Formats: sequence, structure tokens, C-alpha cells
Amino acid sequence: MTDTERILEGLNDEQLAAVTTVSGPVAIIAGAGSGKTRVVSHRTAYAVATDAVPESQVLLVTFTEKAAREMKERVRSLGLGRVMARTFHSAAMAQLFYFWPSRHDGDDPPEVLADKWRLLAPLARRLPGGYRFTPTRDLIDEIEWAKSRRLTPSTYLARAVGRTPPTTPDLFVRLFSDYERTKQRRGLVDFDDILGLTVELLETDQEAAALVRSRYSWFTVDEYQDTTPLQARLLELWLGDRRDLCVVGDEDQTIYTFAGATPEHLTGFARRYPDAVVLPLLTNYRSTPQVLALANKLLASTGSVKTLVATRDGGPEPVTRSFASGAEEEAYVVARIKALVEEGVAADEIAVLLRLNAQTAGFESALAREGIPYQLRGKRFFERREVQTAVRTMERVPEEASGEALVAAVRAEWGRQLGFDPDEEPEGREGRERQATLSTLLAIVSQLALVGEGAGRDEVAAALAERAERERADDAGGVELLTLHRAKGLEWDAVFIPMLEEGSLPVSPAGESEDALAEERRLLYVGITRARRQLTLSWAVERVSAIGKSGAKRPSRFLGALGVSTARTA
Ligand code: ATP
Ligand code: MG
Repeated sequence: MTDTERILEGLNDEQLAAVTTVSGPVAIIAGAGSGKTRVVSHRTAYAVATDAVPESQVLLVTFTEKAAREMKERVRSLGLGRVMARTFHSAAMAQLFYFWPSRHDGDDPPEVLADKWRLLAPLARRLPGGYRFTPTRDLIDEIEWAKSRRLTPSTYLARAVGRTPPTTPDLFVRLFSDYERTKQRRGLVDFDDILGLTVELLETDQEAAALVRSRYSWFTVDEYQDTTPLQARLLELWLGDRRDLCVVGDEDQTIYTFAGATPEHLTGFARRYPDAVVLPLLTNYRSTPQVLALANKLLASTGSVKTLVATRDGGPEPVTRSFASGAEEEAYVVARIKALVEEGVAADEIAVLLRLNAQTAGFESALAREGIPYQLRGKRFFERREVQTAVRTMERVPEEASGEALVAAVRAEWGRQLGFDPDEEPEGREGRERQATLSTLLAIVSQLALVGEGAGRDEVAAALAERAERERADDAGGVELLTLHRAKGLEWDAVFIPMLEEGSLPVSPAGESEDALAEERRLLYVGITRARRQLTLSWAVERVSAIGKSGAKRPSRFLGALGVSTARTA
């Protein structure tokens, strides 16, 4: 078999068309699991094999570093060892820093502020009144949203029309400008600056632009539905007046609009590039017809015209179940996972997808109790900043407190120091994430404190440290626990999406805009379409809160769109 035959082997006609269209603007707009990412690697290999582009001139842009590594592996297995796969940030940083010394009197490139938190948290704590408890992460989101649109503290008010920042607009602008000033004073740049400064460099410095353009001449962007205006601009500058740009995406999977992404770049591609070839991929290779039927129902409820067409053999019907309590749901999920592993499904082919990071904690301990290995994508619970801060804060609680008095003291201390109120329904993405995290931690503290005669402060602290240690040791492989956001582009044999309740998915039903609700629905769509064969959707009608109170939960409105009956059965 020749190289090109090998590259084209096993592709369907639509994929063949996409893989062999190797020049000019191309948009591959297709549904989940239709082979978009696969087409990117094969198309690249085909372009190199047919001399449409030298290997060294290819730039593949992926959404995450992990996706970049996987993409490099995929093209390597097709015989290409030198193709570059990078995120927008890492490609931009390499360019910006390459030119830095010659454009800044021989200075070294600036230090990168990898995490805005360090700088922003102290500024946030100086906000007046109750605003000092504004979750730093929500302020970061808004700053990133603004910078993804090239807004500055002085243009924000006029141009961010209709936005609701986490504080008053005036306070936010003041904080934004303090942040920028502090950062500059310390000689730091953040990730958004790296994109922004690279765009500026390429817009204003013809020599740098020419050199960058001579480096890469052939571009492909995967997950293009989640690009920000700043990233789209950078891509335009990389391309210059050349034509070899391929974008790949699915507007129904846009899940990062809170960070400034917009699917308009994808859906408007043919308008911006009138000579673009737009190629659909209609056949789904990932999931069984049963899984796809559910995905299609959800899609239809959004008014999307797409339907995913199955090619795989039939499998089991998706399980949709309600439980009397969160504990029962957890026990069911873990028992099902155990059964699947016993049937021979590899543990790392099973995933539990959750709306919030904090929601992994319950499943972590339930899996640990059953001796089922698991791994977390993203930060482990006890390594999260808000958890570590909250644990440290417990040192301020009187040493002699124990049992219920200890739990009450911890709760009061977190209220004073961290603005935590377990009865409150917080606003904002991180507000909810933090609330869920502290509630989970308080529930763990209660569990530990209320054994026997009641455990004391230091005993509880030691038990927490032990759990943190076990979590580190456990995290070696196995069942994957991760958020729906992180699940994008990935797939597993068996997928569990628990906690399908109002207030969880959608995360904040009350006062949420139509746009925000639509994004929640797309998150569920991303989750459902991760499953190859087994899919379990579940919810509980009652959950115990951090302070031990039982509260009724309403099933997620999206279950209705899926045709799932949520009427309570006795
Ligand atoms: P997502 O929208 O979730 O990112 P995608 O469109 O990028 O999905 P891929 O991840 O490329 O889809 O492919 C989905 C699955 O289908 C993968 O396991 C892939 O290997 C498989 N697949 C794709 N095309 C074919 C094909 N022609 N024959 C067999 N399997 C295929
Ligand atoms: Mg993909």
C-alpha cells in the first residue's frame, strides 16, 4: 500500500472529500463524533504526502495542551514527526518572545503571570462592603472576556454594553485598571496579553509579520466554535493574504462563551472567505444509535437542523433514573461502575461527567470506599485553592471545640473569613463553584467531627490531611472524574451524567438569560455525545446540604427535552 492509500484507508466519502481538499479556505462544520479531529490528522498527512505543503510549514491549533499532544501523536502515527500542534497561546508566546529582545533594547522576555489569582485576590479583598467577597475567579472571567475582545479599563464601560460584571460596572473598571497597573509595575504579562501583544506586533511590525508568515503557511484549527475574537484576529494575521486555512468545529458544542468565545467565526466563515469550501460530515462513528437518538432529541429542542446519523451497531438503551436521595444516586453509579469493570470494561473507559469541579468529591470518596481506581482531570479536591484556604482557616477555631460545636465554629469562621453562607444561592460561575466546594468540605468536616463522642479540631485536621494524602495516592489511573467542560473532544465506552437537577444543570436556573440556558443545554449535549455505548443520566429528588438539612430538588428541565418522564414514582 502506498502512503496516500494508507492515509485514505477507512475514510467515508465525506471524510475523503475533506481530507483531499488540501488548499484554500475550508470549513468542516459537523456534528459530534463525526470524525472532525480524525479528519484533521489525516488531511494534514495527505497534504504533506501529496506535496501540498512541506511538513515544517504546518501549524495545527488545538484547544488544550493535551489535545496538542494527542494531535502530534496521531500525525506521527501517520508518518509525520515534525508537524507542529500547539494552542493559540503557546504558538503566540513563542513568536512574541522570539522577537522580544530585538524589539525591547535587548531585554529578556517578561515573566508570565500564569495565574491571575495571585495578583487579583488581594485587590478583590480591598473592594468595598460585601463586594470584598466577590469570587476572584468571576472577576478573572470578566477580565478575560474583556481582553478577548481587546477591551481595556478605559473602553470597557462604553463597549461592554449589556454585560453584568460581578460588581458594579464602576467598581469593576477600577479593579480591572488596578490589576493592569499592578501587573505592569511588576513587569508581568498574562496569557491574554500574550495574545494581545502578538496581535499588536503582527499588526504593526511588518518585518516580524513577514518572518512569522514565512515560518507557517498552512493552518488548521480544531474546536473552532470556541475561538475568541482575539484568537480569530491572530489567526487572520498568521494567514496574511494567503488562503490555506482549515477550520473545524460544531456550533452546537460551543461551551466557552463565558470566556469570550463565539461560534460566529465558524458559522460566518463562508461569508468572510467567499471562496471557502464548506464540508459537512454527517455520519457519527462514536456512539450507538441509542445514544445518538437521545443526543438528537436534545439537538432538535434547540432548533438545530443537524441530526447525527449512526453507523455503529445497536447497544443498550441509555439509562435514565431518578433517586430518592443523592446518596442513593451515588451508590447506584458506583455499583454500576463496579459491574461494568467486572464485565470487562476498562476502568479508564468509564467517565463520570459533572457540572462543577466540587461535585467530583462525593464520587471520589464513594469510588475509594469500593476500591475502584479513579483519576481526576483537573485539580484534585484537596489541592484546590479554596479548599486549602478553608482548611487553613480552621486553625483559627478554638482548639478545644469538638463535635457539633466544632462544625458550628468552622462554619462561623468560614462565614467571617471567606464570606461563606451555606444557605445562600450565590451568583456567578465561581461563586457557585466555591459554594459547592465549601459545602462539600463542610459536609466532610461534619462527617469527621460527629463520630463517637465528637472529634476535636486537631483530630479532624489530621483526618483531612490523611484524606488529602489518600487522594494523591489514589490518583493513578482508572475511572475518570471530570467536568463537562473538560470532556470536550473526548470519548469513553461508558458515560455517567449524574445530578441532572435544576441548580446543577442548568447550574443557575433563576435569573439566567436565554443565552446562558442555551449554553447549559449545549454542555449536556457535549456530555451525552461523549458516550460510545453506555450512557446513564440520573438525578435525585432530595439532597442533604452541607449543614445536614434535606432539601427537595427539581429534575433538570432538559430531561423534558430528552423525552424522559420525571414524574415521581412511589
Ligand atoms: P467531537 O465533536 O466530539 O470533537 P469529532 O467529530 O472530532 O468529535 P473524532 O473524535 O474525530 O470525532 O471521531 C469520533 C470517533 O469515531 C473516534 O473514535 C474516531 O476514531 C472514530 N472514527 C471517525 N471516523 C471514522 C471512520 N471513517 N471509521 C471508523 N472510525 C471512525
Ligand atoms: Mg473532535
